[in-house]
Amino acid sequence: MKILSGKEVAKDLTEKLIGQGNNPCLAFIRLGDNPSDLAYQRGAMKKADKVGVKTVEFALPLDTSQDELISLIEKINKDDSIHGVVMFRPLPKHIDEKAVCNALDPKKDVDGITDGSMVKLFTGKGEGFFPCTAQAAMEILHYYNIPLEGKKVAVVGRSLVIGKPVMMMLIAENATVTCCHSKTSDLASICKASDIIVTATGKMNTITDNHVMGNQVVIDVGINFDEEGNMVGDANCQNAYAITPVPGGVGVVTSTILMKHVIEASKT
Ligand code: NDP
Repeated sequence: MKILSGKEVAKDLTEKLIGQGNNPCLAFIRLGDNPSDLAYQRGAMKKADKVGVKTVEFALPLDTSQDELISLIEKINKDDSIHGVVMFRPLPKHIDEKAVCNALDPKKDVDGITDGSMVKLFTGKGEGFFPCTAQAAMEILHYYNIPLEGKKVAVVGRSLVIGKPVMMMLIAENATVTCCHSKTSDLASICKASDIIVTATGKMNTITDNHVMGNQVVIDVGINFDEEGNMVGDANCQNAYAITPVPGGVGVVTSTILMKHVIEASKT
């Protein structure tokens, strides 16, 4: 089984991004100090440093009000030296997350969290960026020259962060897409009849050797932890044609895509 290394994809894209853009700068907005947010931010800052993207952090207390958060975002919208924003979510319960996300100018929405970016994704028109993880899955398919036009793709998972954006991007590239979810009956037959499977369920063993027949490419977006605490994906199969590993697959490409978006935003 061929391993589609995300590390290789990220390395290649990183080299292409170094020094690009017009003094690109990425802002992180974080309420509180959630360890997984901090870990993601550290990783993204390291990547930013490598490609020459500046970063700035807005670390706010957990009891920040919705109005305070929105006025910060409005300030950032007007600040020409900041080109992209990552806002860690979920936000605390006293804040209307949708209202806050939509306060961000889609031009600076480098992780596809605004309705404006969704409109662009679904209609092909307007401003904004696609969610980074979904685009990372596509980047891997492109890097390994996996044909999409006319191919059957089963996308397992229909969230707005991964499943639906991946579906829209695949449709835009003329793939024939089947949307699968927790109520899908006979997932195994749908997957076996597909050329490509993109799985993003957050459930271990969603894709096993019962779902593949030796000729499928599996893009495993899932991040799960097994009983021993090891990070594993949604797929647990040996009989696919090719697969992205977890860790070392889609996840490592995501932060590089984020930098690509910030660089693009700095050019406008
Ligand atoms: P959500 O929980 O929002 O969505 C999961 C989707 O999977 C839902 O559509 C759900 O169906 C579907 N689903 C759940 N169980 C099954 C099943 N047994 N069979 C078929 N479909 C199923 O998750 P996200 O989209 O936010 O994330 C998905 C995974 O991707 C997670 O593991 C997450 O950790 C990972 N992730 C990885 C990133 C990376 O960089 N690699 C970044 C972000 C997330 P239904 O709609 O019917 O409920």
